[in-house]
Amino acid sequence: MEIEDADKREQVNASNIIIATGSEPALLPAFNIDRKNVLTSDQALNLDEIPESILIVGAGGIGIEFGCFFSTFGSKVTIVEALPQVLPTLRDAKLATDIEKIFSKKGIQIRVKTRVDKVEVKGDKKVLTTLNGDEVLESERVLVSIGRKLNSDDIGD
Ligand SMILES: Cc1cc2nc3c(=O)[nH]c(=O)nc-3n(C[C@H](O)[C@H](O)[C@H](O)COP(=O)(O)OP(=O)(O)OC[C@H]3O[C@@H](n4cnc5c(N)ncnc54)[C@H](O)[C@@H]3O)c2cc1C
Repeated sequence: MEIEDADKREQVNASNIIIATGSEPALLPAFNIDRKNVLTSDQALNLDEIPESILIVGAGGIGIEFGCFFSTFGSKVTIVEALPQVLPTLRDAKLATDIEKIFSKKGIQIRVKTRVDKVEVKGDKKVLTTLNGDEVLESERVLVSIGRKLNSDDIGD
């Protein structure tokens, strides 16, 4: 394996090599992530103010976690998930149903079996999200949490 820093490049040999370079949010061009109005979790952790409303695309671990805390801080939260339940990888479907009930009591709107087609920024603090080809929801911010991809593009062949 070849490693390099600012001053040098060297060859390192080992029988096994572990690549542990982490991951970054998965992005889709149709979601127009400008990192100001349409955010990934990286920007959502560094906001200067709590948005009045936020639409979260994806009800995996990150979408659910951020949905809970934005709601607790006073945002109107809508979570949109393409699959039939929140936390789709959870084996215990009852737990997912319980989370949906608890979130509903907190005033969080959860839309399952709903596909987000596109996200458009229409000015500062105004984002339009198109669902299932026709319905459009407006929110101050959108958080895209549709998964993460490995940071390994430039490593290996
Ligand atoms: C919003 C959010 C909430 C999370 N909450 C939880 C949680 O509650 N519990 C939990 O267990 N996990 C949680 N996770 C997941 C957890 O953060 C990750 O699983 C964990 O950080 C992965 O560790 P890692 O060592 O693989 O990668 P990282 O911690 O990302 O470390 C990778 C390192 O590799 C370096 N690097 C990248 N490319 C190169 C290169 N070419 N050469 C040399 N170095 C390189 C990077 O600079 C970085 O320091 C969360 C993640 C997110 C995004």
